[in-house]
Amino acid sequence: MFKESEQIEKFEPKVWLSSPTMHGEEIKYVQEAYETNWMSTVGANINEVERLVCKKIGCKYAVGLSAGTAALHMAVKLAGVKPGEKVFCSDMTFSATVNPIVYEGGVPVFIDTEYDTWNMDPEALEKAFELYPDVKVVVIAHLYGTPGKVDELRDICEKHGAVIIEDAAESMGATYKGLQTGTFGKYNAISFNGNKIITGFSGGMLLTDDKEAAEKVRKWSTQSRENAPWYQHEELGYNYRMSNVIAGVVRGQIPHLEEHIAQKKAIYDRYKEGFKDLPVQMNPYDSEKSEPNFWLSCILVNEEAMCKQVRGEKDALYVPEHGKSCPTEILEKLAEYNAEGRPIWKPMHMQPIYRMNGFVTRDGDGRARTNAYIAGSEKDCDGCPFDKGMDIFYRGLCLPSDNKMTAEQQNIIIEIVKSCFQ
Ligand SMILES: *Cc1c(COP(=O)(O)O)cnc(C)c1O
Repeated sequence: MFKESEQIEKFEPKVWLSSPTMHGEEIKYVQEAYETNWMSTVGANINEVERLVCKKIGCKYAVGLSAGTAALHMAVKLAGVKPGEKVFCSDMTFSATVNPIVYEGGVPVFIDTEYDTWNMDPEALEKAFELYPDVKVVVIAHLYGTPGKVDELRDICEKHGAVIIEDAAESMGATYKGLQTGTFGKYNAISFNGNKIITGFSGGMLLTDDKEAAEKVRKWSTQSRENAPWYQHEELGYNYRMSNVIAGVVRGQIPHLEEHIAQKKAIYDRYKEGFKDLPVQMNPYDSEKSEPNFWLSCILVNEEAMCKQVRGEKDALYVPEHGKSCPTEILEKLAEYNAEGRPIWKPMHMQPIYRMNGFVTRDGDGRARTNAYIAGSEKDCDGCPFDKGMDIFYRGLCLPSDNKMTAEQQNIIIEIVKSCFQ
């Protein structure tokens, strides 16, 4: 372990959280689009990417769109969410899981997180159906590429006659009981955003086994043009179709998905081994049921090893303490060395924009405990319902997980994290 006094050089270039990795075929397909003038939302690359994704994921239909967010919007529309209707939604996720519900006038109700996979807690979901039995749509994300408790969540949704929309934006290539994420919902979304495991720089897809649904999305995403000699419109349209240029990049990336997953898994395993003597846990998964894509490696600092940390709406403070640390200290230290980490995605029920929305934990309203955490006095709240998402946000962080990071660089990062606990 290195001492504070030892001089470590800053990483140059920076070690990223997760950045695009190109291989060469991408430019060939983009070039092809260019040379044949198929520089639009029609072309061979789009057709081929849709075919390849269906084959890889095991769904019947894939519709190429401009973003994962657009795919989620189309999914919410397909599910028939009407203005004022409540929709259950993962709480610890990126805002793009939630916002499309609001685009359609729906009202997200957030479901707390479990500790086993950091995804939607089935017990909290069951509780939510007791509170709001009329809810018909549930949006489920697989955080950081780790599949959630699919069987349990699906059983509950089936029992209550609710449709699942799966947000597999972060989990492309991850499997649950041998099946790919993106096949468990009725309407599902993947993303090719620049930080995802494979990328087109942007782009996304709606996945479904429902032919009629796929056809609707093809029409809606190209401005809902009717089959007529002129521009004829009977429905609201969107400009959401994938570009043939972006599709060229994605087409070149798809053959490298498994290779990226293997690299990400090696990064996860190296961190796990490197931290075995530290009071931290890696982001967990159910190794019997699922194989994540290991998109991001994260750690959770054990409660007894947390130094004092206070977070406001936009900044954070901590008090250094011998033998203890916290996400703020670790992230600041990583930044000093030009390595990019990130706090855990801040739970949606904690976001100012969604502060008035419902939030269901397995044992009641988690806000009391949450507010105690913000005040830094969680001990004053013994017996308060426990808000797990807020706890993971408070104690957890995402580590540099770029697949171009070398083992040597990662070893230095491991030493930097260790030094925080000295
Ligand atoms: C990235 C992401 C999205 C959105 O995908 P875009 O292609 O960036 O629109 C949706 N949900 C989750 C969980 C994501 O991480």
